[in-house]
Formats: sequence, C-alpha cells, structure tokens
Amino acid sequence: MPLLRRKSAPPPAVEKPEPPQLPEPPAAGPNGLRSMADHRDYLLSCIEPLPPFGQQILDSVGLSLCEDVTSAISLPRFDNSAMDGYAVRAADVADASEQSPVSLPVVGEVPAGSPAPHKLSPGSAMKIMTGAAIPEGADAVVPYEATDRGATDVRITEPSAVGQHVRRTGEDITAGTVVLRAGEHLASRAIGLLAAIGVDKVMVRPRPRVVVISTGSELVEPGLPMDNEQQIYDSNSYMLASAAKATGAQVFRVGLVPDDPERLKQVISDQLVRADLILTTGGVSQGDYDIVKQVLPELGATDFTQVAMQPGKPQGFGLIGEDKTPIIMMPGNPVSAFVSFEAFVRPVLRKLAGTAHYLRPTVRIFAGHPITSVAGKLQFARGVVHRTEEGERTVELAGGHGSHLLGGLAAANALLLIDEDTDFVAAGDEVDAWLLDEDS
Ligand code: AMP
Ligand code: MG
Repeated sequence: MPLLRRKSAPPPAVEKPEPPQLPEPPAAGPNGLRSMADHRDYLLSCIEPLPPFGQQILDSVGLSLCEDVTSAISLPRFDNSAMDGYAVRAADVADASEQSPVSLPVVGEVPAGSPAPHKLSPGSAMKIMTGAAIPEGADAVVPYEATDRGATDVRITEPSAVGQHVRRTGEDITAGTVVLRAGEHLASRAIGLLAAIGVDKVMVRPRPRVVVISTGSELVEPGLPMDNEQQIYDSNSYMLASAAKATGAQVFRVGLVPDDPERLKQVISDQLVRADLILTTGGVSQGDYDIVKQVLPELGATDFTQVAMQPGKPQGFGLIGEDKTPIIMMPGNPVSAFVSFEAFVRPVLRKLAGTAHYLRPTVRIFAGHPITSVAGKLQFARGVVHRTEEGERTVELAGGHGSHLLGGLAAANALLLIDEDTDFVAAGDEVDAWLLDEDS
C-alpha cells in the first residue's frame, strides 16, 4: 500500500528584490549636457549625513558636532586671583604709594586648588597664587611687583581698586548657557572649552570612510619599475586620497585595478564593507576598455552622464551593494579627476561629515592677462593667484587647457570658473575662482 502523501505547505513566496533605483536625474540643457551645479545638487540629494555617534573629545577634533552643548558650570567657577600676590581689601591700600607704603600683616596663604585658611579681616593681607580662590573678606589682589614680598608683614607701594586682578565667577561663561551648537566644526579651541566645562564625550558625525581606486591596465604603482613604454604611474589614487584626507575623510587607498571587468567587480564588492563613499577614476568615457561604465550597473543603480564642464565631462554616480553605498566614478585624466573631486566629491564628503557649508566660496579675482575659453561649457582653468603690493588679488594661468597637464595643476593654487557664455576674459576683468589652499 502506498504511503499516504502528506500535503506539503505551498513554498513561501520569494520576495523579488526591488531593482535598484536612483531618484530622477535632472534634465539635460539644450546642448544635451547636464550643468555642473545640477549634477552636484543631484549627488547631494542622493546622500545623507552619516549617523552621529558618541566620541571622546580628543578624537572629535575636525568633526562636526551633532548636539548643542550646554555648560553645567560657570567659567570661572569661583572668584579667583589673576596674579601671584596678596589678597587685600582695596580700601586698606587705597592710599599706598612708593613715598608712603602701606604695611599689612600677612595672615595666611592660599595656593591654587586649596581654600583660604580663614576669612580675611580688615587691615590684613593673605598671600595668594594665580588661580587660587579669593578669600572671603578680600576684594582685590596686589601683585608681588607692587610689594616687598614680605612673609610676616608686606609693604605695599601701589593703590588697588575693588576687583583689581580678580577674575569674576561666570565672567567668561555662565552656567546653563549653550556654548557650542550642533553643526559646529570642532577646532582645537572648542575641544579646550569642552574640557574646561568638564565634558569628555560629545555626539559627532564620523569621518567618512573613503575607498579610492584607480582603473587602467596602463597603470603602475609609484616606486615600482616600468615594464614597457606604454605604462604610466598611477597619480590619481594618491591625489584623490590626499584630497579626501585633507577634506577630513578616513581614506583607504586601494590603488590600481586593470581594465578587467571581473577584477573590478570583485575589488569594489570587497571594499563595500569599509566604505561610506567609493571613488574611482578612469573607464567612464566612450572607449572600448571603459569597463567601469560597463560593469557598475551590475552592482547597483547608476547614472552615467555628460556634464557641461571641461575638464571632467564624463561622470558616473551610483548607489551600490546592500547598503546603497555611494560611488563617484570620475574620468582618468589627472586634471579631470581633480576638477571632479573639487566640483562633486568635496561637497558630498562635507555633507556626509555633516559640515554646514558644502560648497567652496566663489571669489572674484582680476585676470592678470587675457584668458581665452571655450564657450558652451563651464571651463575650469588652473590659476596662480598673487597679491599685488596694494593687496589686490590677480590671477595668471598655470599651464594650458589640456586635462593631462598635471605640472600646471600642481603649480596652481586656484581653479578659475569661466562660464559657458564666456569665451574671452580681458586682462583686468574679474573672473570667478575657488581658492584651493583655503579650507572653507
Ligand atoms: P580614461 O578615463 O580611463 O580613458 O583615461 C584617460 C587618460 O587618463 C588616459 O591617458 C589614462 O592613461 C590617464 N589615466 C587614467 N587613470 C590614471 C591614473 N590613475 N593616473 C594617471 N593617469 C591616468
Ligand atoms: Mg582607462
């Protein structure tokens, strides 16, 4: 007899994962290209600041504060002496001078960190050290320099006013006030203040972890010998890693990956675990070996586009892997990569880190000589900004237009932004610039 077949439960419905998607990208302009500002704002709209965490104050320097900090104590916390000298009643020494010094008995001593031995009675003085609490009954401090430094009696040769050399309770900070606000970038000065009010940990946003990868089969690691005429050293991953570091990121420079789709997919997938942002260079143009553009759609949602800027026209962006990690894929020419960093990566990094202002301020600078440009695209020319003797800033071009001219880029201290409607800037006209050595 056949065994009765049990009715098996229907297999659980397998939920199909949603195909990854990006928000609708901005429309291209009449020339079929996306504007630099539209592309940057699109990337910014696709990422959120990293979640805050509690951090020891020493490790918080350079990070963005995520809470208002209220001081529980006043600074100074108590009335204390600003000088080494003698605590007195001002009225007792009001008439003291070199010609008619006032002598007072020294009735005790107050070192910093200890209370006064007793109240100061009228007509006496107490030795006091800088930072020590003013004894009850005293209202001024006479510095050593205006005395004979006497131990049992002291001769005072200068008058003193009420409050002289006394640091008043709360004159710096009053208990209960907000001393630092959320969004503030913590400089060492702020860390000192936190310590002074007794705070040892704060909520901050972490440094974004940035993985930097160069793609290209022609690339060789600096320091290693070249095998053949066709190879070049990988400069991009070093340049971008250091630019990201200078922007406050924690950087993992993976270095170079050849133009091999499987290798590239593997390397990127392996790096996802430690990345808040991935940067790649190379492989996003129209060439047969532009594999970044070919394989990235397999790892997540991507947007490859053409931006109306020069250099840096081909740009790629994606949210990839399980955590939808952002990836910015830049062209391989070193100047294109650098300009892409400045235009897109730096603002994204600053948003991830919770910095209040994402964009570099644009300043106007006088052209030191005529500058020609190509209309139709925003040109990023490399410039050297000087200050004239009158304090006026002028700029000269550093090298030519080519996006391979790394020597010119290294000599520059500014990027000049010449808009799509301009093909000529006369000497003495003003031009927009980003000052690269100013950290804002
Ligand atoms: P690609 O965007 O891959 O077509 O590369 C454009 C140009 O940039 C080529 O001449 C590459 O050799 C060069 N290039 C690409 N990656 C790097 C790199 N990491 N360092 C220096 N030059 C590079
Ligand atoms: Mg390439």
